[in-house]
Amino acid sequence: MASDLRLPTNSIVRPDKETFLNEENPFEAMMSRFDRAAQLLDLEPGLYKVLRHPEKQITVSIPVLMDNGEVEVFTGYRVLYNTSRGPAKGGIRFDMHVDMEEVKALAAWMTWKCAVVNLPFGGAKGGVICDPLKLSVGELERLTRRYTTGIINTLGPDSDVPAPDVNTNERVMAWIMDTYSMAMRHTVTAVVTGKPIELGGSLGRREATGRGVMISTREALKHLGMRIEGATVAVQGFGNVGSVAADLLTKEGCRVVAVSDKSGGIYNKAGIDVPAAIEHVKKHRSLEGFAGGGEHVSNDELLLLDVDVLVPAALENVITRHNAGKVRAKVIVEGANGPTTAPADAILDEKGVFVVPDILANAGGVTVSYFEWVQDRQAYFWTEDVVNERLTEIMVRSFNDVLQLSLQHKVNMRTAAYMLAISRVATVHRLRGIYA
Ligand code: NAD
Repeated sequence: MASDLRLPTNSIVRPDKETFLNEENPFEAMMSRFDRAAQLLDLEPGLYKVLRHPEKQITVSIPVLMDNGEVEVFTGYRVLYNTSRGPAKGGIRFDMHVDMEEVKALAAWMTWKCAVVNLPFGGAKGGVICDPLKLSVGELERLTRRYTTGIINTLGPDSDVPAPDVNTNERVMAWIMDTYSMAMRHTVTAVVTGKPIELGGSLGRREATGRGVMISTREALKHLGMRIEGATVAVQGFGNVGSVAADLLTKEGCRVVAVSDKSGGIYNKAGIDVPAAIEHVKKHRSLEGFAGGGEHVSNDELLLLDVDVLVPAALENVITRHNAGKVRAKVIVEGANGPTTAPADAILDEKGVFVVPDILANAGGVTVSYFEWVQDRQAYFWTEDVVNERLTEIMVRSFNDVLQLSLQHKVNMRTAAYMLAISRVATVHRLRGIYA
């Protein structure tokens, strides 16, 4: 198989299955934060039980005709966690580590993330257990189309709207849209987001998560009375989120002193030439070989650098009870999903590190997905400036909503973000009534 047939997002190196499930179970990690926020909100017991359960869990067997003429059967999932605020929104990942517990956790996460930025969406997630690197483009397309057909009853612009996630991309979204449209007998662009621009994708979507990280950093520094000009920043992960965040933070006047990817990192006290690093990655698909006038740092060392701002933008569970005590950054802005474990939260709190949590800091992506859905439904497309302006408005407002709650209840930003999200979801349940 030619390398250009491979998907670009499969650079995420995931922790081994045992570590991932036993030590840092994603559903439990998420639920421990949910429980704390629910307790502080004094959530009524019935509603607490409702919000602790996914609305719908689907498992499908996906027969695929392989290139060698044989039939393989893959397993796929789609979980709609909560749809009380609107259609379920959440990505689809193709990965060997996919399992129902993880999909459930990620679907719940999407519910809180959409609520924290006040989008009229619920939360969902999907996944197929497969190694896309081992599939040809034809096999990948057949797998995608058959999976789409398997979950077609939940899909729709008014019910469930997928998006790209680990190892899925614009092309996969285009196949999902086409398969759904064939079944509906007319073109339905709003059934997925993260599509190619020519098919109803939104300008600004690619940069949206990194832009949201930059805006969150700017707001955090403003709140803490720190100047953005000259603020030192370390960024772990130099993919879609990390590279855009590093670039935009540089443009805001920050000094990005360290960047890394799975090949390792570079530290330069005088500041990394971020555009040159981006060019290098474009050419070589990795930071490896990029000197940038600096010295080598490992990914573990990068997390402990003496900087103003640390942006983990690669993997989950990198700041743990083992290294949180040694973190020297004053501010952490979580570009990645779940980079900090629940036990590490308490340690960072004690040290007075200001953490902008993932469900707020990286919500720029789903916000522009929402814009894509709105534009598709209106069949009227916005300029990139309008997209960025509206994204900024939502990110700034959401940051301040969370900050106010955190000051009012004397809790950290993560707990405040969960409180805000849960109270928004709870409010619509109360207004609608529980149909029990
Ligand atoms: P990506 O695949 O574009 O980039 C991932 C980066 O992480 C690459 O630079 C890769 O080399 C690096 N990486 C992989 N393994 C590593 C390791 N062991 N140590 C250090 N770096 C490593 O992915 P992305 O879209 O930038 O997503 C990064 C994170 O942000 C993920 O947690 C993702 O779930 C989250 N996120 C992404 C979006 C989005 O819109 N892309 C939205 C919300 C959250």
